[in-house]
Amino acid sequence: DQPKTTYKRVLLKISGEALMGDQGFGLNPPTVQRIAQEVKSVHDLGVEICMVIGGGNIFRGLAGSAQGMERTTADYMGMLATVMNALAMQSALEGLGVFTRVVSAIPMDQVCEPYIRRRAVRHLEKKRVCIFAAGTGNPYFTTDTAATLRANEMSCEAIFKGTKVDGVYDKDPMKHDDAVRYDRVTYDEVLAKHLNVMDASAIALARDNRKPIIVFSLDEPGGFRGILAGQGTYTLVK
Ligand code: UDP
Repeated sequence: DQPKTTYKRVLLKISGEALMGDQGFGLNPPTVQRIAQEVKSVHDLGVEICMVIGGGNIFRGLAGSAQGMERTTADYMGMLATVMNALAMQSALEGLGVFTRVVSAIPMDQVCEPYIRRRAVRHLEKKRVCIFAAGTGNPYFTTDTAATLRANEMSCEAIFKGTKVDGVYDKDPMKHDDAVRYDRVTYDEVLAKHLNVMDASAIALARDNRKPIIVFSLDEPGGFRGILAGQGTYTLVK
């Protein structure tokens, strides 16, 4: 029995680190292909898919500035890292026969398309996966904020945040055996308790625009498709 879904258009946010596999840095092509397969299985259901991929597997602005780099320059390097990840994902998706456009907040015409909202909407209507690269295009932001911003602009029904664990916990479940998973949590609780979902500006932007965030594990094969059909374990932030 194939899972069915009522979702028409969603945004999948993954961190750059999700593409690392067991490596400590960079891109692991088999891991990128595995995630592309997860995306394809949802695309096969007819769901329109937006993606935002972080850059932390290559470069993070904060880390650069902590080591003496000028912060905005370091942030632009982080944004460029997200473009590399987006291109890797595009290559993997197109290898599976899924038409994909990389759309960048910072224009770089030879590499990918510039972000033009109406054009991106059109891509989605034509069932092309849209990967939004270069974050918001602004330093001092993160790709979590970019994910929420694009989900709003593209009228996605929800933001799916794929992580290593199956939801939001009261403390890090990798470090504490007694960590408790939330089935449901409010945006304000996430902010007040500093729960590890997304950074505060991204959570506030989702709250102010009533965009639900679903945190789930991307390590389960078929997990993304199952979650879209309401199966499996996850945390709903609403
Ligand atoms: N970044 C930025 N503005 C944005 C999005 C990202 O300056 O709108 C930079 C920032 O330096 C960040 C890096 O790009 O550290 C990589 O993004 P992020 O840390 O969100 O990646 P993730 O943790 O999801 O892998």
